[in-house]
Formats: sequence, C-alpha cells, structure tokens
Amino acid sequence: MDYKTLYNFMLKLTSAFEKSKSRKDFILGLEAAFSKVLRIEGIKIYTLDEFSYVLKDFEKPWENLSDDGQNKKIQDVLNSFVGSKESAKLDDINIYIPVFEETKILGLLEITLERQITPDNEFFEIVPLVQRQISYAVLNFKSGEKMKLNTKFYKTIRNIAKIIETQYELSYILPILGEMIDSFIYEHLIYIFIKNKNKKEFKLVWPANIKDSKIYSYLEQLNSKSGVTLEREGKVGIFPLISEQKLLGAVVAYNPFDKLNENEINYLDEISKQASITIERALGYMKILKDATLDALTGLNNRHQFAIRLREETASAKRQNTPLCCIMTDIDFFKKVNDTYGHAVGDCVLKNVARTIKKELRENDIPARYGGEEFAILLPHTTLEEATLVAQRLRCAIEKKKINIEEYNIEGTKQLNVTISIGVSAYNKAQKEPEQLYQNADKALYEAKEGGRNRVVVYNPDKN
Ligand code: GH3
Ligand code: MG
Ligand code: MG
Repeated sequence: MDYKTLYNFMLKLTSAFEKSKSRKDFILGLEAAFSKVLRIEGIKIYTLDEFSYVLKDFEKPWENLSDDGQNKKIQDVLNSFVGSKESAKLDDINIYIPVFEETKILGLLEITLERQITPDNEFFEIVPLVQRQISYAVLNFKSGEKMKLNTKFYKTIRNIAKIIETQYELSYILPILGEMIDSFIYEHLIYIFIKNKNKKEFKLVWPANIKDSKIYSYLEQLNSKSGVTLEREGKVGIFPLISEQKLLGAVVAYNPFDKLNENEINYLDEISKQASITIERALGYMKILKDATLDALTGLNNRHQFAIRLREETASAKRQNTPLCCIMTDIDFFKKVNDTYGHAVGDCVLKNVARTIKKELRENDIPARYGGEEFAILLPHTTLEEATLVAQRLRCAIEKKKINIEEYNIEGTKQLNVTISIGVSAYNKAQKEPEQLYQNADKALYEAKEGGRNRVVVYNPDKN
C-alpha cells in the first residue's frame, strides 16, 4: 500500500473518530475511510452488551440481533477470536476484526466486500493498527454518549432519588417522572402505565387521558422479559418498567408522524430502568407506611392519623363541653417553588414550614400534614378567638422565616420565603359529623386564597 493511500485512509479514519455526532455517522465515516483501501459494500459493528452479553448492532443498541442465524454466525466468529492471536478473519465476502478493551472482547467489526474481491496481503498489514484505533473509538463513543446523557440526567436523577427518600405516593411520584421525561423528549407524547398487580390490565397514570387506544394492545404483549419494542416503524416506543423480574408497567413514547431517534431511545431506555427502581421503592414504602401514623417527610401526623384524632377530639369536646378549633393552612403559590427550584427544594420548604408550625404550637395541639402542601391543626381546649391569634402568629412566623436552600446549589438563591393562607373554624356540638370541623376551616381557607392569600379567615356559619 503506498504512502498516499495509507495517509488518506488514516485521515478519514481519524475524522470518523473525531467528527461523528451519532453512531450512524460514525459507521458512515468508517465506510468512507475503508473505501480508500478496499472496495466495500458496507460496514457493521456488533457489540456485546456489557450486562447481558447479548449481541447488539452498534447502530441500534436498544435492539437484540434478530434470530435468523445471523446472530449465531456472529457469535461463532466472535468466539473464535477468544484466546486467539489473530487480528482478522476472512470469510467469503466479510472481513471480521475483533474489537477489544484490553483483553476483553467488546465486539466485532464486519467489513462486507464487493463480490469477487479478495483483499491483498497489504491490507492485513494495517489491520492491527486499525484494530486498536477502532476498539478505542467504540469504547470512547459508548462512554461519550453515556456522559452526554448523564450530564442531562444527573441533576434530575439526583432530584428523583432525593424525592423518593421521603415520598411514597405513586400518585405524586408518577407525574414528576412524567414531567421529567417530557422535558427531554420533544416530539413525542409520553405515557406512563402501571400494571394491575393480579390482573393483566394496564392503567394509564400519566397524563390524564390517551388519544390512541391501540397502545393498550401493544402493552398486552409485554412480559417480565421484554426489552424495548418499537412499533409503527419506530414512531411508538414501548419501554417496559421491570424490577426484580416483575413487570410493573411501561413508559410509552408516541408520535403518529415522527420516529424516535437513537438518542431518545437510549435516553428513554435508561430512564425507564431508573423509573422502575423508583416505582419499586415507592411500592415498598407504601407497604411499610400503611400502618404508620407519621408523615415521612415532615414528621407530623399523617392524614390517616389526623382522621383518628379528629374523631377522638370531637367526641371529647362534646362530652366535656370544651372548646375545640381547627386550622387549615395551604402554602401560597407552592407549585411555583417546585417549578422554579425543583421538587427537592419544594420538599425542603415543606419540612421547614412543618417545623415552624410545630414550634409555634402548644404541646397539646395536633398538627398534621393533610395533603401535599396543606396542613391541618386541631386545637383542643381553645376558643375561636385564641385559635385566630394562633393562626395569625403562624402566618407571621412563616412569612418571616428565611428558608435556607444553600445545599441545593441554586445560582443566585440561598434563601427562600413563602407565605401561607389560613382558615379557622370552631367545633359546635350541633355538628353531626366530625369532618365538618375541618371542612368549615377549609371553606375559610378558600376565602383566604380568594381574598389575596397570606391571610387568616375565620369561618362564619351565618355567611355560608
Ligand atoms: P395556591 O396559592 O392557590 O395554593 O397555589 P399553589 O401553587 O400552592 O397550589 P396548587 O395546589 O396548584 O399546587 C400545589 C403543589 O404542591 C402541586 C404539587 O406538585 C406540590 N406538591 C404536593 N405535594 C408535594 C410534596 O410532597 N413535595 C413537593 N415538593 N411538592 C408537592
Ligand atoms: Mg394546595
Ligand atoms: Mg398552595
């Protein structure tokens, strides 16, 4: 091989390594390089999946090789290189060059020649040189892609991991997952389905409804061993959620017109795996916390416990003829905190608000986390006048409180302020249902919101 041909070849090869933006690009670059020294039909790279050792087409890493004998053939060629010192094999019209990471075989480069062309010996002299470079490039490509994916991922995944330390309600976690996936996938609608435990049915959990019910028929084909499936020429991607060999559900990316691209498929594949872990953990938490009395995030009574205490306290107020009041509060514009700073910061705010509420109350008061960012407080032996003062004190304390969010590394924001709106109501023996006590407080809270927020409204039975 003359110097000039070799030079051109190396130049093209280098450019394939350095300039290609996608895997497909990379293969095209290799083809351009090899056509400088051989007459070729095409190039393929097969790689071994690092976890499952299943053979994949480098260009479509989400797909297993079809089982039409090709898989077996490639596997056999690959095996024949294990422990051998050969750097290439010629077979009919293909040249195979193994791809290595140190001594571990990573995959195979397949160069398909034009028929009746046999490469001369000169070509085989450059193979060892090429082989090193390609092995290095494949490896680099894989880790480069991972890096790209990960920098985008990194923050969000960490946020998710933080959230599930203390959140266990799927109805809360799944919309966050949905929103998060949505923010990375532009052209496709994202659906999340959860499989009913015993039945085979799938339930749509994100978003509220679905346009194309045909998707359900794709889901029926899933089982605990399913991989990613692409339907309608890649316009619909189905990413099963599998954890501990159980099929939990699926993420579906859907667009009637556009195909999913390689990056999106990789991304969705990774995130579905991550989501599986999150969902599995949440299901685990749910089991443990079913009998719990405290809310995991704030340490206050949970809603269930609040209902029990409400019955006890109303009964006791009635029996002993003592006053009892209820305060309902809701953080103002809380959604904006989540949207601006992320859910982890939102959780931090919730913890701080809960702590402040607890600090401002007396020993016998009963604070509870009633819902997401709503807190309910029972105040036994407290008149409506006293309860209103407590409510005002709470409102002021929250308004003044500077919530430190330094640990979340938000540029330009070290502290946050929030306000709360409050409704107050008093128990009255004539009330038949204990629930009416907090329902009245809730009505007053609604008025406080309507009236402009960051204020206390006392329930007025004559008005309502
Ligand atoms: P308003 O002043 O009318 O109350 O406005 P808002 O934004 O507070 O009201 P909205 O009820 O629309 O939003 C409440 C938000 O609280 C939506 C939900 O994502 C968020 N949320 C609920 N539970 C949690 C939680 O446990 N952690 C975090 N970070 N956010 C939560
Ligand atoms: Mg609310
Ligand atoms: Mg709110």
